[in-house]
Amino acid sequence: MKDCIFCKIVAGEIPADRIYEDDMILVFLDIAPINKGHALVVPRGHHHSICSVPSDIRARMMERAPEIAIAIMRATGADGFNFMLSNGTCAGQIVPHAHLHIIPRSPADGVVLPARSVPYENADEKHEMLAKIRERLAV
Ligand code: AMP
Ligand code: ZN
Repeated sequence: MKDCIFCKIVAGEIPADRIYEDDMILVFLDIAPINKGHALVVPRGHHHSICSVPSDIRARMMERAPEIAIAIMRATGADGFNFMLSNGTCAGQIVPHAHLHIIPRSPADGVVLPARSVPYENADEKHEMLAKIRERLAV
């Protein structure tokens, strides 16, 4: 897509610190890292939503992501990592080209990821939600 910054990176029109690439995906350092080594896994093709990315390409993203994460942990000395994928503006997605964040983590690194718990009113409400999700699952 013409105005997409990640499409421009894929096309080589703007620079990026490339870690890995193949016929389906590209991995590069995030320009504003949450921790040093923070990287982004992107499909070569433009898709706003991860749900629109063809399944073989999604599979490649998730096949490579742990391997890249291991390399990042070895390079940075991090003990762990977060995978983060913000899908949709309401979820915090800013760049409208699907991407998976790999964020290396260390004890007491000060990173606070948003977290809360919204309890179900009761067991019935939870079971209704469970049934609705299962009914709509198209696999
Ligand atoms: P998100 O909120 O999930 O859409 O995150 C978009 C991410 O893309 C942010 O972490 C940005 O720092 C990162 N980003 C934006 N522009 C670039 C760029 N030119 N090169 C590398 N990372 C970028
Ligand atoms: Zn794009």
